[in-house]
Amino acid sequence: MDDRDCSQTRSVELAFEAPDGVPDFLDLSGFRTQEVKQVEHMVAVRGAYGVSPPSCSQCEAVHFEVEKVDDWLVWDAPRFGIYPTIIQLLVPIFHCLACGRRFQVQPPWLDDSSVAAEDDKRPPRPTRTSRLVTYIMDRMTTMTTFAQIARDTGYSEDSIKAVFEKRFKAWDAERGKDLPRAFEIDETLHKYGKDGGLVTLIVDEENGHTVDVLPDRDNSTIARRFFEAENRNEVEYVGMDFSGPFRDVATKPLKPQKEMPTEEDKPELFDGVEMVEYVVDDSGESSESTRALPGAQAGGDNFHLSKAMEDALTDVRNFVANSLSEKYLDEELAKASPEDIAGMGEEAFQAEAKAKADKRVSERISDLTKRRLWLSPRPENLSPGQTIWVQDVLSEFPLLKAAYELKNEGLEITSKKRKKKTPDEVRAGIEHWLGSFEESSAGSFFSRPRNILTNWKEELVRSADKAINTNKVESKNGLYKLRIRMCRGVSIETMRAFMVWADAHRRTNRWPKVCGGVKSMTARQYFEFLDSRPDQQ
Ligand SMILES: [Zn+2]
Repeated sequence: MDDRDCSQTRSVELAFEAPDGVPDFLDLSGFRTQEVKQVEHMVAVRGAYGVSPPSCSQCEAVHFEVEKVDDWLVWDAPRFGIYPTIIQLLVPIFHCLACGRRFQVQPPWLDDSSVAAEDDKRPPRPTRTSRLVTYIMDRMTTMTTFAQIARDTGYSEDSIKAVFEKRFKAWDAERGKDLPRAFEIDETLHKYGKDGGLVTLIVDEENGHTVDVLPDRDNSTIARRFFEAENRNEVEYVGMDFSGPFRDVATKPLKPQKEMPTEEDKPELFDGVEMVEYVVDDSGESSESTRALPGAQAGGDNFHLSKAMEDALTDVRNFVANSLSEKYLDEELAKASPEDIAGMGEEAFQAEAKAKADKRVSERISDLTKRRLWLSPRPENLSPGQTIWVQDVLSEFPLLKAAYELKNEGLEITSKKRKKKTPDEVRAGIEHWLGSFEESSAGSFFSRPRNILTNWKEELVRSADKAINTNKVESKNGLYKLRIRMCRGVSIETMRAFMVWADAHRRTNRWPKVCGGVKSMTARQYFEFLDSRPDQQ
């Protein structure tokens, strides 16, 4: 052994030179492409990792030789973003002439965590490249599904799910539990088939990112999440629709309960969370009760107030439409003189009056339905033709007129159309509306808006003043429901990962690091990109 020339042994001849004319298809360091085959829309690349180690990995001797060649099957990110790519990777097994042991050199671009099961006593080896992982995490920032990525990569749906969930969990743990200074909270329905239930969404008021998805909407669940935030003292505003439980848990003292729920019922998302139950302590702060967000104020939501006003007007419109038959029949009957009735005969006269009334009813209902949206805008925003119609309808139906006026006054309370209302103006507006409500003949239809304005006065004032609302959480709510429909049977935990990851990593108009779609590039940029690729020269 001693008489061997180290320098010769070290430059082990790796007979992995690419045949003439085969381009470096994969652009991976140390990888020599030997063969590229296209099968259907997939690309299979055979090649070798031709990097010789500096010394034996066991004894650091420099005398070794290639004993044989191992082949690994490795999934790669789709080449050029469109061709699912699998690599038959030839990796030399070196035999150390000093210690007699065998060793391999693993390419640095493989994902270490993707170790295949040990089958035939050979050491476990990776099954995917690191850039496939990057590709998957990148794709998960958009509205996609595991099934779609599986189609695009050839990699299995289960493996893609596992990659995403593992990376997300690590990132999520690192990110911690801090809450934004202002956030919005709302419930949404996590439903697939006949199963499902309510979950709670927490969305950052400032940037609209999903902060968290809680597996139900219980007070205790929300309270525990708040208590987990190290910065819970810094939360200032929580926007919500008019939900009493959300307001209680965000702003009232909470008292921990003795009884804990059984461990068996515990959803996976509660792993590592102490399952303390909390109840709202209305009796004033006792020694054991405390606020989860000591500095937080609740903000109401103009949108839901406006909607409650509109709904009340709709109820009145429907009520009016339903009473039309009687009203129009009475009118038709009143038109006739006793002589007319005698001339026609009582029965025939009744039938004709009824027919006329029915015709008018159906025309009026169709008219009211068709033009109902003209009752929504403030009167000064209507066109002259619309104004005439609205005035005509309102003069015919005094109850609808009363409701219309109450609705318009209600929309005006927090309206910023002319100029932003001061808190005092909002308060005064609420008081005035409540007075109008008492006097209005349509008041009985407006009990929901009345309750909101009575119970959520200060929240509405804050909402108008600080722009705390639920706009962003409402939009996430819609997105959540859409994603559930895209991925049937998806768990709450996975949905949470989708929403939080996508929001935190969303970016626009940037060429992805690995590969990806071309939609954000101009045609010129795309051809410049093609020209700049080394393997195209
Ligand atoms: Zn050795």
